[in-house]
Amino acid sequence: MRVARGGARVTLAERAPGPREGACGDCLGPAARRHLADLGIPTDDALFRVRLWRGGKRAEARLPFVAAAVPRRDLDVRLLDLAADAGVRVRRGVAAVALETAPLRVRLANGEVCAPGAVVLATGKHDLRGAPLRWGPLEGYVGLKAAVPDPGLAADAVELLLFEGGYLGCLVAGGRATFSAALSAAALRRGGGSWRGLLAALAEASPPWRARLEMAAAARPAAVAGLPYGFVADGVREGVFPVGDRAAVVPSLMGEGVGIAFASGRMAADALLAGRSAADYGRAAAAAFGWVRPLAWAARGLSGGPVQALAVAAAARAPGLLTAAARWRLDPGG
Ligand SMILES: Cc1cc2nc3c(=O)[nH]c(=O)nc-3n(C[C@H](O)[C@H](O)[C@H](O)COP(=O)(O)OP(=O)(O)OC[C@H]3O[C@@H](n4cnc5c(N)ncnc54)[C@H](O)[C@@H]3O)c2cc1C
Repeated sequence: MRVARGGARVTLAERAPGPREGACGDCLGPAARRHLADLGIPTDDALFRVRLWRGGKRAEARLPFVAAAVPRRDLDVRLLDLAADAGVRVRRGVAAVALETAPLRVRLANGEVCAPGAVVLATGKHDLRGAPLRWGPLEGYVGLKAAVPDPGLAADAVELLLFEGGYLGCLVAGGRATFSAALSAAALRRGGGSWRGLLAALAEASPPWRARLEMAAAARPAAVAGLPYGFVADGVREGVFPVGDRAAVVPSLMGEGVGIAFASGRMAADALLAGRSAADYGRAAAAAFGWVRPLAWAARGLSGGPVQALAVAAAARAPGLLTAAARWRLDPGG
């Protein structure tokens, strides 16, 4: 949008023909909220509290900021509509199948070949020929997400159920209860290798969640595998500006992936408008988002059962610790 408004001709290829459920927890942090406000998109479902669970034990605290529950299914379509209004040629249901450099070319699934002056690479965690996704320090994680009609859960809180090898998040967004999980492949195997099996095992271990997990088990989840938490783009190819998860992959638990997508998108747009090279942009983005690496290691530490039990017990005694931990985040800014 920013580049189109700056006078350049922009084409956006989105492989999804219409709204679709992506593996995202729908919890947007303060940075993403700011970007949405700049775009005139309201974030009505505010989140003020965080509830942390491990088995039947829980801790609760207020968030040190206001987060928002925003259904990505609707948001992504809204953003494409806004891009079209800003003059971007939006092509829905058209997938890019390969990226070539020297010379710069994008091959589309319908056989077309584009020869742009620059490519903003925004394919998220999906592979693309010529631009394979590389691993981060924390490998082999799986993301799952499903939404069901809200059974009457508290709408002002994000809830996180921790379990050995991962977590399941739950919140109410746009009248639906959203469930999203990020877990190691080993944890998924322990849950029988399926969404239903995982939720059944969690319901067994956490009775207060049983009713809602039974509802969620009936939904068909969106899934993404091989999450490269802690990945930061470093290899620079001339004319290619990676943004969002292509620039840096933050652990999902932090709720900052969308904030990074907005912030890096804006950085790339400003670099393009100023005529800066992809190498310049790549260095600036790596410096701006390098903090996802230590966070990936921290998330790994928190995926162990004994650490989780300790964290919930400590936060139950001193909720201020949980508030402080939520404050200890790095703002993607932008
Ligand atoms: C389980 C889980 C929970 C999460 N929870 C949160 C959360 O609560 N809050 C938060 O901020 N972040 C969360 N994240 C992270 C967040 O989803 C991502 O960081 C964010 O969506 C990255 O945005 P993106 O634009 O880079 O990629 P995406 O949002 O994945 O968008 C990529 C787009 O490119 C399209 N595409 C892909 N390949 C092609 C192709 N070849 N041709 C054309 N189009 C293509 C896709 O259809 C998609 O629309 C979560 C992630 C996971 C896995």
